[in-house]
Amino acid sequence: MKALAGGLITNTAAAYAFMLPYDHVLPIWGVQFEWQLDQFLSYQDQEPVMDAAMKTEIEKDLEELQGEFCRGCGYCMPCPVDINISDCARMSLMIRRAPAQGQLTPAMQAMMKKTEDCIHCGKCKSMCPYGLDTPTLLEKNYQDYKEILAGKEI
Ligand code: SF4
Ligand code: SF4
Repeated sequence: MKALAGGLITNTAAAYAFMLPYDHVLPIWGVQFEWQLDQFLSYQDQEPVMDAAMKTEIEKDLEELQGEFCRGCGYCMPCPVDINISDCARMSLMIRRAPAQGQLTPAMQAMMKKTEDCIHCGKCKSMCPYGLDTPTLLEKNYQDYKEILAGKEI
């Protein structure tokens, strides 16, 4: 279980506290930054306790991340035309939940443009453990990305 979903969830204490009651869950934290791992390690000595603020944040995350939500696990890769699926299929979320500037660099724009090369072979879709329609998700994320580049407010 990726507690931070590769960077889409940012409150390490809430993620840790949420998982504590589930003895059968083995966390693979899915951190984006080393400091997040440091925080998790510190919780082994001092466990965070679920409180009202954490619950509110988890509810908000649940609302935003349900449905067509790519976890960035990468099980659908490699792609035969080298599309970076695990980053491109969740760009709309990353750009809104992480600092947007880092997602709009020329390198990131080139990465997103590469989704145009999709040959719709269906390999990614058949491998996704969450049953996502990955090629369609890529198209939606790229469309949103182009609109953001053109000035759409995020
Ligand atoms: S459907 Fe498109 S994105 Fe998915 S593996 Fe095939 S070429 Fe890559
Ligand atoms: S499309 Fe599915 S398999 Fe691919 S990275 Fe996203 S969640 Fe994982």
